[in-house]
Amino acid sequence: MSENNPDTDGWREATLLVRGGTIRSEHRETSEGLYLTSGYVYGSAEEAEASFSNKLERYVYSRYANPTLTMLEDRLRLIEGAEACRTTASGMAAVYAALVCQLKAGGRVVAARALFGSCLYILQEILPRFGVEVELVDGIDLDQWAAALSRPTDVVLVESPSNPTLEIVDLPAIAELAHAAGARVIVDNVFATPLLQKPLKLGADIVVYSATKHIDGQGRCLGGAVLGDTAFIKDVLTPFLRHTGPALSPFNAWVMLKALETLPLRVEKHCRNALEVARFLDGRKGLGRVLYPGLESHPQHALAMRQMTAGGTVIAFELAGGKDAAFRFLNALKLIDISNNLGDSKSLICHPATTTHQRLSDADKAHLGITPGLLRLSVGLEDAADLRDDLEQALAAAS
Ligand SMILES: *Cc1c(COP(=O)(O)O)cnc(C)c1O
Repeated sequence: MSENNPDTDGWREATLLVRGGTIRSEHRETSEGLYLTSGYVYGSAEEAEASFSNKLERYVYSRYANPTLTMLEDRLRLIEGAEACRTTASGMAAVYAALVCQLKAGGRVVAARALFGSCLYILQEILPRFGVEVELVDGIDLDQWAAALSRPTDVVLVESPSNPTLEIVDLPAIAELAHAAGARVIVDNVFATPLLQKPLKLGADIVVYSATKHIDGQGRCLGGAVLGDTAFIKDVLTPFLRHTGPALSPFNAWVMLKALETLPLRVEKHCRNALEVARFLDGRKGLGRVLYPGLESHPQHALAMRQMTAGGTVIAFELAGGKDAAFRFLNALKLIDISNNLGDSKSLICHPATTTHQRLSDADKAHLGITPGLLRLSVGLEDAADLRDDLEQALAAAS
């Protein structure tokens, strides 16, 4: 599988993003090949037998492995600095598999409360059905982490920056507490992208992505990835994926391989635009809190800058006039689209309280800071001046 794989030793990140993991076929194509095939053929019955008894390592079925997926998995592994990677059909398939492949009845998970809505559903609705105990803590409160992790625990799940309020979790501190409790730490690194934050270097054991977000970054494909050490990925996660089947489409993997080539260019522009828009919004009349980890006014700005190389691509801000003002503002936007996706080249905005986090009780929303006036803006690649103009006119219309 790897004889056509170039020696990537010493290559820097941008080079790995363009060339890492490339496997060239006998046709010596320039671009990565798209192997849109579900199965593979054997030269003989003996070869088929050897393949199934693992005496021969080769492709047998695309639910197990596929050359286009192998290229994407190798490229992601190289940029993350992980030993191994498996891709999945969506980010939620990645989160679910990373959790469930290592849990059993009687197990225990500790997680930060501020999580992507569907991750909370898995923790609160699905895992308890199978006898897994789940304890949620306030991600920024180290005392709560210490109390929860004073008991043996199997898995810790955190997201930093968190969705939608952009809280920053102190990853090295949590990793130390988690490891002392015997737990593996999974970091959902979607908001930071693989470029701005390296959770494995900060003490995490496993990193998960929704590749739907910045990795595709152009609103086309769903996908996900799980990265970690070889023992976990190969022996624990891979059998679970093989037999439960959340395999990524080779076509989507190919789109993501091509998208990775431009990831640094896009993420840098996203971050520059986001900082400019955050500065424009901060302190503006008609607005309450403006939350962006790259702003000095963010409550954990110093921690954010220790863990990340830039503030990210998402801003949360609050219309002082509550839900009515927020809806008037959304409906007045002419350029920025109302959409619950993020990490797209198009700027997208949503109202978490009535969309992504609608399922939560009013008390939980209030506790998480998901107020009726809160909006989450994923800043795209447009000209920042056009974004400012659109926000300005919508603010005028909402007040
Ligand atoms: C989008 C997202 C997910 C889920 O990914 P899908 O590709 O939509 O399944 C998980 N975590 C975070 C932080 C996300 O933003």
